[in-house]
Amino acid sequence: MKNQTGTSATGLNAAIYCRASKDATGIGRSVEEQENVVREICHDKGWTVVEVISDNEFSASKYMRKQRPGFTKLCTSVINSLDVDVIVVYEQSRLTRKIEELVDFVGKASTYGTGIFVVGDYDVLEEDDPQWKQRGIYDEQHSILTSKRTRRALLANAKAGIPHGVPPFGYERATTKNEDGKVVNTLAIVESDAEIVRAMVAGVLEGLTLYEVARRWGDGRPARSVRKMLLTPSYAGIRRHRGHDYAGNWPAIITKDEQRRLEALLIDPRRKSTTGPKPRHLCSGIAVCGVCGTPVQHITQGNARSQSPQYRCPRRGCVARKAEMVDDLVVQSLLDHYAPEIARRRALEDALDAEATRAAAEARALRQRFDAEKQALAKRDDLEPEDFADMTALLAAKYRPQIKALEAKAGAVMTNPLLGKLDQWESFTIEQRRSVIRDALEIRIEKMDLGPKKDARVPVPESVTIIPRLEFRTDYMRNQKR
Ligand SMILES: [Zn+2]
Repeated sequence: MKNQTGTSATGLNAAIYCRASKDATGIGRSVEEQENVVREICHDKGWTVVEVISDNEFSASKYMRKQRPGFTKLCTSVINSLDVDVIVVYEQSRLTRKIEELVDFVGKASTYGTGIFVVGDYDVLEEDDPQWKQRGIYDEQHSILTSKRTRRALLANAKAGIPHGVPPFGYERATTKNEDGKVVNTLAIVESDAEIVRAMVAGVLEGLTLYEVARRWGDGRPARSVRKMLLTPSYAGIRRHRGHDYAGNWPAIITKDEQRRLEALLIDPRRKSTTGPKPRHLCSGIAVCGVCGTPVQHITQGNARSQSPQYRCPRRGCVARKAEMVDDLVVQSLLDHYAPEIARRRALEDALDAEATRAAAEARALRQRFDAEKQALAKRDDLEPEDFADMTALLAAKYRPQIKALEAKAGAVMTNPLLGKLDQWESFTIEQRRSVIRDALEIRIEKMDLGPKKDARVPVPESVTIIPRLEFRTDYMRNQKR
């Protein structure tokens, strides 16, 4: 077998393209498995592998929700590359399941004289061969049918409040009869496990760190998976499907209000580092470099001259300051100066919570609109992959800043329950202290003009800027009232 590039020849340069799909069709080989098989074939044929491009866990179905950066690269810079003689794939459907895209791809390859070799069929894919087109049409139809059918079924189930997937911890599978007397799946509470879920939720809402919650009740689960578990809307009897909430047909373990507060607490991006196990320093990763904005690191220098640990800009070392001084300043600011202010503002909590709830709902609605527009884009078949990528980027630029701003309001300062208990500061753990500092203060370590001596460890309190984050929330409220 031969084509215009002579793919039966040895000594060619090959680019391997792999794609792992979530769909049930195909053998479902992982990217690594595909690469191994394809590499072996290239080796057998005496081809040099010059590039391996992968798209992992993306569905290439007609209804794909995400673009495939690897495939885009394949279409824009590999297929026409002078260094690539042949593109090798594990099976034809790894390239794409969209027939228009496939036709376009094969046409392009032919134009640039780049061969396409399909390992699964052990054959060269040639433009005027009818076989690949038939297979492509089959692949696409199969994908449309399965995805339409599954999507319709999933939506109907969601609307009926029927649970989906593995029951979350605290529940077990059960059946019940729906309004029409039909037997449907539901969830039943496993009381002993549900008790643990309630304890964990109460713990988080009372201000325990995820790490502490995991340690006490997690039974070996890491904090990260406790977070994921507690964010399961099923615990409040909510069946969430593609961003929409439906009433589940099972009993709730926690209230919707508890679930909403959990989300506000756990989705706050500033809380990320509270899942780590080791005790950290008060301000590392929280205070930022006043020059470049990078969160500072706590460092203990090895040499004898500088015994005291410092917070230092890890990026370019723009600033360094004695850690003990920064810690003292921060705690002093928090307790002496801001605690009364925080207490006063806490009186506004109800209003603030209402604002947060509204912002959270708005953010979710916006996310849904963003997703819907992305999906609509993915369904358009008149777009070249590069146009698709451009338009997706435009959409992201339009929606992401708005969503981010709303989510910031939603997960704002006052949701940290520890802020109301600053009088118990002494009994706080290091993680709790860090979470309070992170939520209450913005800390910048400024560059100091020290003259020729340049001793960065000289404790000058003015060289640390501490700004209460609460300003943000109150400003926001003022704007709303206007
Ligand atoms: Zn810096």
